[in-house]
Amino acid sequence: MSSRARHAELAAAIEAHNYRYYVLDDPTVSDAEFDRLMLELLAIENEHPELVTGDSPTQRVGGKARASVTKVRREHRMMSLDNAYSADDLEEFHKRVVSGLRESDIPEFVIEPKLDGASIEVIFDGGKLVQATTRGDGVTGEDITTNVRTIRGVPSRIRYQKKLTLRGEVLIYRKDLDALNADRLTAGLEPFANPRNAAAGAVRMLDPREVSARPLRAIFYQVVEGSELHKAQSESLAWLAELGLPTHRREVVKLWDGVMAAIAAIDHARTTYPFETDGAVVKVNPYRQQHGLGETSKFPKWAIAYKFQAERAATTVRGIIVQVGRTGVLTPVAMMDPVQLAGTTVTRATLHNADQIRLLDVHVGDRVVVQKAGEIIPQVVGVEQRARAKGSPHFYMPEACPECGTHVMSDGASTRCPNRLCPAQVCGRILYYASRQAMAIDHLGESLAQQLVSQGLVHDVADLYDLNAAHIAALERMGDKSAENVILAIASSRQRTLDRLLCGLGIPQIGQVAAKQLAEEAITLEAVLGWSESEAREKVSGIFGFGPKMVESVIEFLKNEGERNVIEKLLVRGVGRPQPRHAVATEGPLVGKSFCVTGVLSRKREEVHALLRAAGATIHDSVKKETSYLVAGDKTGKSKLDQAKKYGVTVIDEVQMNGLVGSS
Ligand code: AMP
Ligand code: ZN
Repeated sequence: MSSRARHAELAAAIEAHNYRYYVLDDPTVSDAEFDRLMLELLAIENEHPELVTGDSPTQRVGGKARASVTKVRREHRMMSLDNAYSADDLEEFHKRVVSGLRESDIPEFVIEPKLDGASIEVIFDGGKLVQATTRGDGVTGEDITTNVRTIRGVPSRIRYQKKLTLRGEVLIYRKDLDALNADRLTAGLEPFANPRNAAAGAVRMLDPREVSARPLRAIFYQVVEGSELHKAQSESLAWLAELGLPTHRREVVKLWDGVMAAIAAIDHARTTYPFETDGAVVKVNPYRQQHGLGETSKFPKWAIAYKFQAERAATTVRGIIVQVGRTGVLTPVAMMDPVQLAGTTVTRATLHNADQIRLLDVHVGDRVVVQKAGEIIPQVVGVEQRARAKGSPHFYMPEACPECGTHVMSDGASTRCPNRLCPAQVCGRILYYASRQAMAIDHLGESLAQQLVSQGLVHDVADLYDLNAAHIAALERMGDKSAENVILAIASSRQRTLDRLLCGLGIPQIGQVAAKQLAEEAITLEAVLGWSESEAREKVSGIFGFGPKMVESVIEFLKNEGERNVIEKLLVRGVGRPQPRHAVATEGPLVGKSFCVTGVLSRKREEVHALLRAAGATIHDSVKKETSYLVAGDKTGKSKLDQAKKYGVTVIDEVQMNGLVGSS
């Protein structure tokens, strides 16, 4: 079979599996099998870059970062929903609907779960996703097309060819958020309070690669352009499902009496839904009736959202402890009598920070109300002041770190332990270093990390490489076999590439993607250490998407003697492989040609280099005698142009370069 045919076959198979997994929630292959297909596809694309199309499944990992936010004016205004909090409110809505229709017209209703995420509008045209926007102010939204393309449940192609405008909600399934938060906790990052925050934040991120790392889903609840094909909301949704688009359940009710029952059914079943539902939406089903009712300036008159009660419970605070994270931030946590909340037993709730404690005025012994309205981590939302025992003491954030006794510092609402060697911080850093997105050291969990630190065996991440099996076997709950496994896992992490190592160092502001960019700039850890401050500033600020905060953070990190010391120790221990340079293609339109790229182009330098390399060209950092072309962007320096003239190198612009590559 030709590579092209196999590519098409794999792409179709992968999209079909995406559909089964993300839309039907019924996968037919294991994750490993899926990964195998993806790897094969990547290998083919590596060899045949010409087969990489915008809708290839490999492109879902995200294209180039947006430099800024683009606003888009939409054709049809996106509205909000009127709210109902009681049966009476719903009754009012019913009356308004009946009186808004002709006397002979009997309204029909459809009841849907209210999805708790971020609203988007998506436009398909010619069978392809051409635009996605946030709600914004209703008329103007933010262009998030590249982000939505990373959402695997949204098909990149549909068979309907005409223009189709859809409204939907981007959200995160509960189980996916649990996994994401578990990763964030090991990574020493603040977990997301609820799926909505995680989804809403992600959908607007500037870098689609970051977006693709979030387990986002989309569910469509309305057809705007394209609705003329059907008579009613319920028919449109059924049609979307036929087109392979994710939709939610809906129940059509012909008589008003059925509406309350349908809402109760959703309320009853919602804990079994994979996503958070904070209410039910009642809509008039036939489009003809919808049009007859019209809208106010804010919302349609044919729909209303019935909000369920948030899940709350009352219990008693028995103590307040303070946890110290990787970055030294102190978080107060209420320890409470066990209470049932949203189907789980809860004994801890976060009090966030000193401000929140002051605001709530919580005392130990207080009766409090805890809430888990979508929030994964329950929080204390109220205190029954009247029930308070006389003389119960106030709680104040400690002045000394509970883990190491160092005097704390406060900036704004947050309180920090400034001691880098604080055991809680060291432990947090080790866990972050070992976490999946960094050095991926298996078998190194929380209890082991704590023991290693408290026994004085490990003071920083480099010390891990000095451990032997005997050290570990001597710890609690550690057999010889598991000690061996830990040592093996640590040893094999030496082979991780620089991007993972840099990520694992936990430089503030530098996540997985930024660490990779930094690694591609530096290639080796040695080089990073060798940079002078001005060199570092020049290199780092040249990286696409690195704002001043990120640059300063890297500079500060590299200036810090403690951090330098750890990097030196890692170097001595031979940790980290050089970042692989982009592989050189052996075939392509530009084999045997060499390019020097300078000035400001429409995409980042790194991408242009990758594009040229993929076409078979080699890259020169400066203009040399043997250079074939100088690609001169905006603001090209005179010296480069002079060099080119001197050696007779052809100077071209970006458009001409694209022509040579055969792309545009
Ligand atoms: P609100 O933001 O509270 O005014 O509620 C309006 C928003 O609810 C809409 O903009 C949608 O994003 C969202 N929504 C969630 N589920 C639905 C649904 N089934 N039908 C319509 N809107 C929904
Ligand atoms: Zn401390």
